Amino acid sequence: MRDVKTNTWAIVAAAGSGVRFGAAAGKQFVQIQGMSLLQRTLRSLEGCPDLQGMVVVVPPDRVAVLHGRPGLRVVAGGERRTDSVRAGFAALPDDCNLVLVHDGVRPGVTPELVRRVIEVAWSDGACVPVLRVNDTVKAVDAAGRVVRTLEREPLRLVQTPQGFRREVLRQAYAWADENGGPGFTDDAALVEASSQRVTVVAGEEENIKVTVPGDLVRLGLLAPRVGHGYDVHRLEPGRKLILGGVEIEHDRGLLGHSDGDAALHALCDALLGAAGLPDIGRQFPDTDPKYAGVASLDLLREAAALVRRAGWRASSADLTLVAERPRLAGHLPRMAKGIAKVLEVEPEAVGVKATTEEGLGFTGQGEGIAAHAMVVLVPAWEAAHG
Ligand code: MG
Repeated sequence: MRDVKTNTWAIVAAAGSGVRFGAAAGKQFVQIQGMSLLQRTLRSLEGCPDLQGMVVVVPPDRVAVLHGRPGLRVVAGGERRTDSVRAGFAALPDDCNLVLVHDGVRPGVTPELVRRVIEVAWSDGACVPVLRVNDTVKAVDAAGRVVRTLEREPLRLVQTPQGFRREVLRQAYAWADENGGPGFTDDAALVEASSQRVTVVAGEEENIKVTVPGDLVRLGLLAPRVGHGYDVHRLEPGRKLILGGVEIEHDRGLLGHSDGDAALHALCDALLGAAGLPDIGRQFPDTDPKYAGVASLDLLREAAALVRRAGWRASSADLTLVAERPRLAGHLPRMAKGIAKVLEVEPEAVGVKATTEEGLGFTGQGEGIAAHAMVVLVPAWEAAHG
């Protein structure tokens, strides 16, 4: 398959600032479920058996953060993309004869695509992966008026990795040194400008350059999280019964350091669990006098805020309350409404239902009330990174 004469290294361009992403750091460094986009891109490239090594080009203040290792060199980039790739080029080992240039925010790159690009770049000198254009493309002027409609058939969208024989890229930079000119948005353009041939191969739809948060959803990097919570409190005479944040007429109430609201405690644990945070007992310890007699709606509010800070928000919740007495049916809509308000979701996104256990066990005997809760969390991007 691979020509044994090739010694291929990838230059990974990751020195940009990523303003469209709404992130303070460049989007390539934003942590998504414990791993940055750049780390994901590097991991994908490391899974390509045709690559011998990589040079990662990052902003100067990141060079010390990313640790080099055999097969991974880290260098500081420049102002423009062209400057950064040039810095990467200078760090290639002497025996490298084929260079791929890849965007640090294209984690969807596959070994098959890398192989296609390498094969054609080696035979033809320079190669870029492309996609056909499905939308009509128009040229417009500064006033926003259409100047003309382009013929779609010959148009292609260009991806990375772009592949070059080392000598081809060296000549392109030598040409740029002599002729100056603007910074180029891709490396093939520089090769074209230096009058060298560039061949295309088929790109891949999932090889997305992550530009806006919605791209992460497409890549499956922002999957929802599910959490489950369960709680039981003992029923005691002489206490108010608070359940699901609602006060209910009854001859006994739930015992607890707080108001004893088993339903909301189960819901707090579901939220915290889904976000990977410590559970309610560790967040709001019953040894802390601060939480004595506290309304569990306040605990829920706090749990929701912790979850937000971890980069998530609830999109729906579902609770099952297990109690023989009192009858809860008439109170359920009010519970759902109050919970929805705290979670900042539509009331229809909160289900609260009640069941009995047919006289069996501690709920059946009226000794206590149990509650199960499930929540679905979705990324709250702005809250985490805005
Ligand atoms: Mg509890």
